[in-house]
Amino acid sequence: MKTILVTGGTGFLGSNLCIRLINEGNRVICVDNNYTGRLSNIESIVNHPNFLFIEHDICDLLEINDEKIDQIYNMACPASPPAYQGSYSIKTTKTCVLGAINMLDLAKLHHATILQTSTSEIYGEPLVHPQVESYRGNVNPIGIRACYDEGKRCAESLFFDYHRHEGVDIKVVRIFNTYGPNMDPNDGRVVSNFICQALSGQDITIYGDGHQTRSFCYVDDLIEVLIRMMNSEKAFTGPVNIGNPGEFTIKELAEMVVSKVGGSSKVVYKDLPSDDPTQRRPDITLAKTKLDWEPKIKLDEGLDKTIAYFKTQIDQFKKVA
Ligand code: UDP
Repeated sequence: MKTILVTGGTGFLGSNLCIRLINEGNRVICVDNNYTGRLSNIESIVNHPNFLFIEHDICDLLEINDEKIDQIYNMACPASPPAYQGSYSIKTTKTCVLGAINMLDLAKLHHATILQTSTSEIYGEPLVHPQVESYRGNVNPIGIRACYDEGKRCAESLFFDYHRHEGVDIKVVRIFNTYGPNMDPNDGRVVSNFICQALSGQDITIYGDGHQTRSFCYVDDLIEVLIRMMNSEKAFTGPVNIGNPGEFTIKELAEMVVSKVGGSSKVVYKDLPSDDPTQRRPDITLAKTKLDWEPKIKLDEGLDKTIAYFKTQIDQFKKVA
């Protein structure tokens, strides 16, 4: 049995990972400050004998002295644009940077392998398409997305410095847009917004003209590759892109959701937030080659599963501004 620490464990991806790791027989320590995570996401495992939840902010030192940690997934960070562009902006940079330092120090102490969940956002407004890992990106360092983009870029540099100078075993993945059960209905991301709007008969809000593209990966595919990466050969540090290379315009996504959910919602157009990337699609050749992985669940099927999940959350929807 491995002892695995997951930061951000009550969030969307973190909770899905904790559930899978518990089901596979591991000891799981879940750490979260619950700023954007939700305890309801872990209610199915919270009483499991191998599961421990610690309410803690990784910007502060975390000491674990009574057991040896084998692996750390560092997933804590506000991840939806409305969260990190709003009241959590400075906290986002602190979580990326101070949180990474604290977790890397913990990994060093425990001789644990540590995986950083980086992001496609490190490519900014990409001038290379699809995005390959060797592309260095095009980020506005002073824009409203910079707290997240630059925070995650700084975390990557910390990971590689701890690897080079402190001998820490690291893994870095760059996650592209992901969706599925345990997303917060109110966190403002496009998939959750569109589905919740359609289910509750509100207008579907497309920002800009809807021609911007994203590639959407279903959460189960993403969790599978996270675990493969963590357990890959020691010399393979990444960074490696993980996501679904199927590329859709936001308008196409709106049409798919409306046709699946039905109802009376109409599409309305709102201003595009600044620095919103025009296009995004991962080149996943490296993940295919090194991790023998590619996503299996198409958007059509994943949306059905996600709509079914949001139907169980309907009492929690708020109106999207
Ligand atoms: N978006 C939209 N309507 C919404 C929410 C988002 O049109 O209600 C757009 C957003 O401007 C962006 C894309 O959908 O172009 C994906 O947004 P999301 O916040 O999900 O993630 P991002 O890829 O921007 O981090």
